[in-house]
Amino acid sequence: MIDNWQTFLIEGVYFLAAILFILGLKKMSSPVTARGGIIWAGVGMILATLATFLTPHLSNLNLIVIAIILGALPAWWSAKKVAMANMPQMIALYNGMGGGAAAAIAGVELIRASAGHELSTTVQTLAVLGAIIGTISFSGSIIAFAKLQGLIKKSLLFNKQQIINLGLFVFILVLGAIIVAMGSVPIVVIILFFIIALAFGVLVTVPIGGADMPVVISLFNALTGLAVAFEGFVLSNAAMIIAGTVVGAAGTLLTQLMAKAMNRPISNVLFSGFGAAEGQEAGDDSGVEGSLKPIDATDAGIMMAYAEQVIIVPGYGMAVAQAQHKIWELTKALIDRDVRVKFAIHPVAGRMPGHMNVLLAEAGVPYDIIFDLDEINAEFEQSDVALVIGANDVVNPIARTDPSSPIYGMPILSADKAKNVVVIKRGKGTGFSGVENHLFYADNTRMLYGDGQKMAGELLQGVKEL
Ligand code: NDP
Repeated sequence: MIDNWQTFLIEGVYFLAAILFILGLKKMSSPVTARGGIIWAGVGMILATLATFLTPHLSNLNLIVIAIILGALPAWWSAKKVAMANMPQMIALYNGMGGGAAAAIAGVELIRASAGHELSTTVQTLAVLGAIIGTISFSGSIIAFAKLQGLIKKSLLFNKQQIINLGLFVFILVLGAIIVAMGSVPIVVIILFFIIALAFGVLVTVPIGGADMPVVISLFNALTGLAVAFEGFVLSNAAMIIAGTVVGAAGTLLTQLMAKAMNRPISNVLFSGFGAAEGQEAGDDSGVEGSLKPIDATDAGIMMAYAEQVIIVPGYGMAVAQAQHKIWELTKALIDRDVRVKFAIHPVAGRMPGHMNVLLAEAGVPYDIIFDLDEINAEFEQSDVALVIGANDVVNPIARTDPSSPIYGMPILSADKAKNVVVIKRGKGTGFSGVENHLFYADNTRMLYGDGQKMAGELLQGVKEL
């Protein structure tokens, strides 16, 4: 009787949590309500976790509590401490942990089966699928983390890479099929199965180059969701099934959006181009015409103050410099002088989807002057100044012109078409893809060298002093 009562309560709380996840996700679709959305989904997750403690005949309670503390404390501490600019790699890492946790559940179930505990074929198939997907997402996300953190700087390409990867993948499927078919296999087979899946996740991610990373990161996000949902079926846990499905679906849509933003089919990102087309090497500046022409903040300020329309293009460097507040102050000073100011956001600017929107929202920039690539690209031609702050790849015209470039085909913001371009950056650093930017050498471009926040401050001062 008590079991029924507890089960009823658990399922009721899971249902409430599911509603909170879905409403939270809906709220996350707009920057105005996104913060509330995170809180709603978080409350849903806390409720679902607490309800799980009511599971009848729950054993190892102490271990569960210790595990929660061991996970929650470092996560709480690091999330509080992390610099805004390092948020993307932290998200990649946490995504990997989700995949790893799903794979660990599968591992436990498969080891139990190998010790004689009978699992139905359906449950075992789902456990194996979740194990494969979760493990690949785990090791792949760790590599993505290392790339975003700058620990791995180059795409690692080696001979017969695709054939080796294909061979490994087939091997994983064969091992998985053996595990399901036999029901109970020696532990050594299970260990081998996980090691190969880990290696596959690493090997499939290391070659993927610079500009293709957003697609891969969102794909791993979707895979983690899927793995969690599979393991939810294994444990008959509705909260995991719902949360996993929601993450899986959202991640899949995001992957499609990112692939569209890069103008690259997902298969192309994963299996053919590897983000480093033959021909031009990352960092190769041969063939660049023109010269870099510096400008000082006073002259750039005058140019902007007397403009009719200025379009600001923020990129990853704005996040590093935390320059969004100064940029908003500069915008207000220009608007006070009757200059029309608009922001142009590329879908993959920064290091995580929506990165620039989050920063601009944090600074208080109103949404009606922020435009997506499709909405604003035609306007650059009529603009007197394009102010590029810490953006590089997303304004690189080579993506339009050079089929041998690793970023060829990626739609870019047409900053080069503005009458004048002012680029704020610290030096000669390339963008994430490592490709030299021809925009910086163009006749209508002037380079304002320095840290983004400092330069935005100097521009503001220049405009105010007029
Ligand atoms: P990029 O990474 O291409 O360029 C950033 C530029 O900012 C650099 O050239 C750097 O030059 C400059 N910079 C760095 N720090 C500062 C600072 N403190 N002050 C001023 N400038 C600074 O950025 P984009 O936003 O143009 O492009 C994003 C890239 O990241 C794309 O290739 C995208 O594919 C990739 N990516 C995006 C993800 C996403 O989800 N959005 C995820 C993973 C990768 P310098 O060193 O000379 O200052």
